[in-house]
Amino acid sequence: MSKEIQDELIIHFNIDKQVIEFVNEVEKDILYKFSEIDQIKMYNQYKVLHAMQKMKLGSTDFGWNTGYGYGDVHREKLENIYAEVFKAESALVRPSIASGTHAISLVFSGLLKPGDELLYITGSPYDTMLKVIGIKGNEPGNLIENGICYKQVDLINGHIDINKTLDKINERTKIVAIQRSTGYSDRNAISLKEMETTFLQIKEKYNDIIIFVDNCYGEFTQINEPIEIGADIIAGSLIKNPGGGIAVSGGYIAGKQQYIERIANRLTAPGLGKDCGLTFGTNRITLQGLFMAPNVVSEALKGAILMGATYQKLGFEVTPSIEDERNDIVQSIRFEDPLKVIEFCKGVQESGAVDSYITPEAWDMPGYEDKVIMAAAGFIEGSSIEISADAPMRDPYYVYYQGGVNYEQCKLGVMKTLNNLLNKNLITLK
Ligand SMILES: *Cc1c(COP(=O)(O)O)cnc(C)c1O
Repeated sequence: MSKEIQDELIIHFNIDKQVIEFVNEVEKDILYKFSEIDQIKMYNQYKVLHAMQKMKLGSTDFGWNTGYGYGDVHREKLENIYAEVFKAESALVRPSIASGTHAISLVFSGLLKPGDELLYITGSPYDTMLKVIGIKGNEPGNLIENGICYKQVDLINGHIDINKTLDKINERTKIVAIQRSTGYSDRNAISLKEMETTFLQIKEKYNDIIIFVDNCYGEFTQINEPIEIGADIIAGSLIKNPGGGIAVSGGYIAGKQQYIERIANRLTAPGLGKDCGLTFGTNRITLQGLFMAPNVVSEALKGAILMGATYQKLGFEVTPSIEDERNDIVQSIRFEDPLKVIEFCKGVQESGAVDSYITPEAWDMPGYEDKVIMAAAGFIEGSSIEISADAPMRDPYYVYYQGGVNYEQCKLGVMKTLNNLLNKNLITLK
């Protein structure tokens, strides 16, 4: 690191010199990891580029119409490009899908009928899904209220329990669901290899079962995506990986045509399906975001590794560990102390381009069970492909750090968090 950069960090960002030196040392140890990530990025960049060329994306595709949006060929092109990238027969990519939770909820409510069973085989699903399903709370319209039966198989040592899964499947089981990313848990993301063997074993015995993957945070972290290795349908958020930090809102669902048709009928109405719905001028930024996504995800991954390696060196338990294969962009750190969580989140916030002067506080977020503290300092509100961190305020006080559209900002984030912890005497640098 040049003297000029170091001075900039000290003078303009108040970073302690020992923090800079510490992080620079950590970085040296992990540089070899970055070349693997660059290979994945390159492959995915060409994949996205090819999809855009194949679908003949043109400058005329950035317009939009009014009213019903019937026969909007530009919206169709966007959806076809998504389908191509994720190797799906069809896709829904809409600003009217409010979030990842909404996208996943649409999959379930579109495909499940009263009496059908939904089986999660990666343990308890993401916090917001608990109310969607009806495991927690008593939200009107949840799946259980609508006559859908929910079952779950817990992971063993962070891996899918295939024997229990095969045991639990019965004639009512309609969807087997896998959550790829860690969520608010202490496990690694599920690898594509593990998913592939699981899907093969399930399909061998039960060919009609629909395999769904919650792909949030997983997109472009590897060269393949879940549909290529046997999933029938996937969903995710546009303000995470595939939006590249540029898409303003929305969600996507990709998969088999027959399932997408049903889900589209739920999103709009039976008879309308995919054929209507405005994009409100979001096509260009959604596509540009997709174009940027492989690079942005690679920067976020590098940032996550630096963050993980730094705290691992300080003796904290981190997931994934530095040697683990990455299948999502999340880096969790176990702090076992609410004060450390707060100082960490403040540091992430202070590294932001937007709202850097705001102090994050724990609050009751809609859809979440415990109070959650969130650092979000990006251009898109709540976007977690931009540098961000969140932590449910519960024992053992894990923080989930993710995103960062450029590595330089991630590195500042690492230093800011360390600086805050050091200033409050919550850590010592060895
Ligand atoms: C973020 C996330 C969701 C929910 O997405 P939102 O856009 O926050 O509603 C669901 N599952 C996983 C694994 C996630 O990371």
